[in-house]
Amino acid sequence: MVRVRFAPSPTGSMHVGGVRTALFNWLFAKKNNGKFILRIEDTDIERSSIESENEIINSLKWCNLDWDEGPDIGGDFGPYRQSERLEIYLKYINYLIENNMAYYAVYDNENNEIYKSNKFPKNAQGSIVVKFKVNKEGVTSFKDLIKGEISFRNDLLDDFIILRSNGIPVYNFTVVIDDYLMNITHVIRGEDHISNTQKQIMLYNAFGWKTPEFMHIPLILGSDRKPLSKRHGGTSVDYFKNEGFFSYALMNYLALLGWTIEDEIFNFKDKIKDFDPNKLSKKAVIFDYEKLEWICGKHMRNIDINDLYVEFKNWINDNKLKNILESNEQYSLDVLSICREKINTLKQLKDFSYNFFIEDYDYEEIFIEKYLKKDWAKDLLSIAVKKFEELEIYNIDNVEKTLREISELKITSKKNTFQAIRGAVLGKLVTPGLFESIVVLGKERVVSRLKKTEVFINEIKR
Ligand code: GLU
Repeated sequence: MVRVRFAPSPTGSMHVGGVRTALFNWLFAKKNNGKFILRIEDTDIERSSIESENEIINSLKWCNLDWDEGPDIGGDFGPYRQSERLEIYLKYINYLIENNMAYYAVYDNENNEIYKSNKFPKNAQGSIVVKFKVNKEGVTSFKDLIKGEISFRNDLLDDFIILRSNGIPVYNFTVVIDDYLMNITHVIRGEDHISNTQKQIMLYNAFGWKTPEFMHIPLILGSDRKPLSKRHGGTSVDYFKNEGFFSYALMNYLALLGWTIEDEIFNFKDKIKDFDPNKLSKKAVIFDYEKLEWICGKHMRNIDINDLYVEFKNWINDNKLKNILESNEQYSLDVLSICREKINTLKQLKDFSYNFFIEDYDYEEIFIEKYLKKDWAKDLLSIAVKKFEELEIYNIDNVEKTLREISELKITSKKNTFQAIRGAVLGKLVTPGLFESIVVLGKERVVSRLKKTEVFINEIKR
């Protein structure tokens, strides 16, 4: 049975490169009716933190990358944690020492190796580590499922530390023990780990274990072709979540980063059967923030409006923002459905819809300058108040007709008429379509907003 794992080190935020690795592991497991395992590699005690572990777990949950196995934590699967498995690793370290494949090495303060032994050096002055004995003959090679044949000269590798002086084994050791004990069949990870594979294969051989298949995924780069980092913009899942991207839009984009698949807009859960490692790029890929936003916009317009309402509400709560949604749910739905046509993310949706939800909105400076300060503004507003008070039924046709009638009075140009009324009822000049906006706002809001603007004009004229 196919068994794969995602094995993050909890030493920082959850990078989008990490989630993409998790996503490809997840897809590969599901495609093969296998299992996807989460293992927290927290043996670097100085750099690991519980905050980072929590962020990783919450990010995976938010992305809907659920894992299939792990210690029971009240009906749910927890992650495996390497820090809880130290005894297991020590057993295998001892096995290598006893069989002459590893030894104790003592270092002085200047970091020079001063002593080696098969026995624990009880009276040693200095720090004691355990090193793996490298057989310097020949090459270590493997067939990577993405990159093809890769080999390393063994004479270029020195004996390497497997147990640190603080008694904790290193990543290259623990990863082998765990992948073996957890029956991992395929190791799918970032290509920055290719060079580690040499040491890991040597350890598999030392124990007489079969190696898993390896699949190294090309890195994600920024526009300058350097590994994607904070210099390029936000890189963590939390960043994209806070910016108001849908998790499935982020996953959609990450799936496209390096995987050639016909569709462009999809939910990754619908693409399990299409997943094929042979269709993964061998070359590094460049993270394109604009493309991601474009994809998010496609989902923004495809999603059921009721689901959008829920996503929006949750996003506002998660970001501890003021709940601007109206208790009148139908009004909120109508606002969201006209606003979503022109924006791509939930954050943009908030900015774009904000003035529909609050009555004490401000007027944009440019709107005041270009329209409200003009001589005709006062007359136009008073006619608009009258006409929209008289109008009974607010639908697209009636609103259009009313605006046309106002414009035909030639108080100012048609464009000025429309823009001034737009700004009056919404405070700004870029809004959803004017007719739709007026219909959605409805008579009561429109009239009171036009009146509010009339008052405002009198104030600025003073
Ligand atoms: N803990 C390693 C990392 O976060 C895992 C590498 C692997 O998948 O073997 O990079």
